[in-house]
Amino acid sequence: MNQVVQLHSEDNASCLTTCPYCGVGCGVKATLSKGRIIAVSGDEQHPANFGRLCVKGSSLHETTSHKKRLLKPSVNGQEVSWDKAVSSVAKGFSSLINQYGPDSVAMYVSGQLLTEDYYVANKLMKGFIGTANIDTNSRLCMSSSVASYKRGLGEDLVPCDYSDLEKCDLLVLVGSNAAWAHPILYQRMEAAKKSNPNLRLILVDPRRTASADLADLHLPLSPGSDVALFMGLANYLVQESFVDRKFIEQSCSGMTEFEAALDQWSIERVANICQLDKKDLTAFYSLFAENEKVVSFYSQGVNQSSSAVDKSTAIINCHLLTGRIGKEGAGPFSITGQPNAMGGREVGGLANQLAAHMDIDNHIHRERVQRFWNSPTISSSHGLKALDLFEKIHSGEVKAVWIMATNPVVSLPNHEFVKEALKKCELVVVSDMTAETDTAAFADILLPATSWGEKDGTVTNSERRISRQRGLVSGPGEARHDWQVICDVAKEMGFGEAFKYSKPADIFREHAALSGFENDRERFFDISALEEISDEQYEALSPVQWPCPKNMANSPAKPLADGIFPTENGKARLLIVEHKEPAQRLSEERPFRLNSGRIRDQWHTMTRTGRSTRLHNHLDEPYVDIHPDDLARLGAEAGALLELRTDFGSAIMRCRAEKGQTPGQLFVPIHWNRSFASKANVGALFEWIGDPLSGQPESKHGAVSAKVFPVDWQGTFCSSVELDREWLDSVTQFWSKALVPGGFRYQVAGQGDATLWYAHWQKVHDDGETLAKDLNGELRIAQFVGGSLQSLAFFGKSHKPRSMTLFSDLATAGLIKRNEWRQVLSTEAHNEAEKEGAQVCSCFKVGENKIRNAILEGVDTVEALGASLKCGTNCGSCIPEISSLIQECKKSEIDVQRNSVVDFNPVGEST
Ligand code: SF4
Repeated sequence: MNQVVQLHSEDNASCLTTCPYCGVGCGVKATLSKGRIIAVSGDEQHPANFGRLCVKGSSLHETTSHKKRLLKPSVNGQEVSWDKAVSSVAKGFSSLINQYGPDSVAMYVSGQLLTEDYYVANKLMKGFIGTANIDTNSRLCMSSSVASYKRGLGEDLVPCDYSDLEKCDLLVLVGSNAAWAHPILYQRMEAAKKSNPNLRLILVDPRRTASADLADLHLPLSPGSDVALFMGLANYLVQESFVDRKFIEQSCSGMTEFEAALDQWSIERVANICQLDKKDLTAFYSLFAENEKVVSFYSQGVNQSSSAVDKSTAIINCHLLTGRIGKEGAGPFSITGQPNAMGGREVGGLANQLAAHMDIDNHIHRERVQRFWNSPTISSSHGLKALDLFEKIHSGEVKAVWIMATNPVVSLPNHEFVKEALKKCELVVVSDMTAETDTAAFADILLPATSWGEKDGTVTNSERRISRQRGLVSGPGEARHDWQVICDVAKEMGFGEAFKYSKPADIFREHAALSGFENDRERFFDISALEEISDEQYEALSPVQWPCPKNMANSPAKPLADGIFPTENGKARLLIVEHKEPAQRLSEERPFRLNSGRIRDQWHTMTRTGRSTRLHNHLDEPYVDIHPDDLARLGAEAGALLELRTDFGSAIMRCRAEKGQTPGQLFVPIHWNRSFASKANVGALFEWIGDPLSGQPESKHGAVSAKVFPVDWQGTFCSSVELDREWLDSVTQFWSKALVPGGFRYQVAGQGDATLWYAHWQKVHDDGETLAKDLNGELRIAQFVGGSLQSLAFFGKSHKPRSMTLFSDLATAGLIKRNEWRQVLSTEAHNEAEKEGAQVCSCFKVGENKIRNAILEGVDTVEALGASLKCGTNCGSCIPEISSLIQECKKSEIDVQRNSVVDFNPVGEST
């Protein structure tokens, strides 16, 4: 609490803050110069990362430029003053509320908001406007885990800490590609495994992801069959007498009924439903049974399903049966995707929550919160969850929505429906740092918001640790903090007294006080020890984990350590759950099961990470992973463009042949949107279906068709200037954009004559001089303006990968004479980087081919490759890929001896 933070106005000051990307919540040390963040490194003292940052975190300073930032508020496309903008929002909301009631308006907010922003948004909607129509994009991330913790444990309580990952003897990763989605935790797992040779890691995932690198066993279960897997485990634990009867007696209810429902879950039946080998299944069950210290680490692979709450309940059941909860190195550990999903949960940012872990359904809670807020009203029923909310916007029942720091047109399923809804909506207010989002295009009122490095407040990570995200630099133009704008709108609506905060610390103190208000250990969420911190203490706040009540004596060292649960009878609930197939049904027309997820170097819809050139290096265009046999059946080769289709949407992306995909299944990353590609939004392919209890969309189990997208030409086009996307749409059938040193790189493809495309381009950009060369049917063109290379184009029948640095290498090569350029255009390979292949290490720009060659020459450990090529020696995010290249190369040379440590198939054998 007393850590000193240097003033950010000082040059070269080092300031402590928190990464704004994933739910790990790493501490960041930012270096400032002349009012700008010029470098970042990991905060050695932060208990989440102890000095490490993944590649996204270590590129943060590269994303802070003011380019393309939204600078001024606007109403109906006209720039206006803040006063005018605030009064337009307030009047718009008030007039609809007067006419149609409070439920005619809504907010759709985000896990990127800080807790203070979230707190005032929730207070305004539930306590003053009087509607619970405030939901968040965290609905898409972990709302199912919230629901299952609440119904199983009694409260939305994550009972584990990151240190449990290091203290356990068995780590079960369920639906989590931690190597890419939560890299710093993965690195902690990796280190733990090195220091504890007895630690076993099991990966439960339909596809073989980068996280398989660390796994002793991979269970490629059939998509959506997790309930069967864990009910089968529960049955095994009971049958083989591994349950903790004493713990169940004292701390659980429902055992008699639960036990009676288990006999249907024989290993044979589970193996059949999950499509798993019985031997692997038994190996998993016996490992779980025999290890006291087990952590089940799960994420979106569990949560984004139409039976998600049941899936996580099935996991929690197994921990309750064995009493492996509330103990060191044990517990069901849900990891959030977003930086402040947990903070949102604390303040009640979901439509079915109240505030400070209190319930809308509970009249005592409602009365208590209303009294605390001294508010004129309090919402008495659940509001609309994300999918229901957009349905009601579409049907016209909700007439105004204020969208804050999120991009639902990309992230929700069936984006055509979302677009239609926003088009129809009477009043759409969007607060964001940029107007370049697919959602901002629908805004009637656009409000410029501050962003990471500018925003000031707190966030809570996946292990319940609250950290400061500090405002280190000023926002550009007239950008303002979200909490300020919400408070101004509240004042304009007549609620000024209750929103008189002058700084985030004021809001935080109130939030902390509410958490402890009439809370005699009724709710674990209690940070009342912080309710009286001074402004200086808030400014200097070190990471702090909850619960931290005023009276710590009332609180066990670890939540649930005393076996008392926050339910009416103090007991957790064992719940019978049933296996259900994914709601999106496969058919003859739509035979492929579509999975979605994150890649290592991008975040969400790329509005921030898309600004860093470095982060485009690893995977530089939208892709679909498909098993080579499926690809052959489609008559295509790796690198072809595939079109994925449903009845309501389609997407086009380049395919990669991946043996880690189970035949019949596809994987597409979630990130690419209309700013970066013509038609690669995977959200377009998922049906409007959610979990009935949590409302979380089923974004892992799409049902699609796939076919080759026919094109006559393909090309790579590099340019120092950005091209207009409407124009690109009009002259190509496919395009994707990546940032490269010195400009932009477009992959383009189309039908008809390729040269026509370039002729179109020349018409628009008719300055300068061009030099063209036809090399073996590939047309190569260089364009110069004022003697400098302005653009470089390659067109042919097929796609050829080009180095990401080609453009800048040539532009800065000092070539002056035309015959030098002719020679360059006649060269088959263009530079060393191109020969290196796809980039694996983004920090030191080391390509796949270079790593493979080194391995084949005997440099065949991660450490040796690091010493020789530097790859993997900075952030470490690429180490899983380097390891898997080592394995792959070794496999092709010698027969790998089977792992003899435990009696089951090692990773890869079962796929
Ligand atoms: Fe940021 Fe990476 Fe840490 Fe996640 S793991 S918080 S993205 S640095």
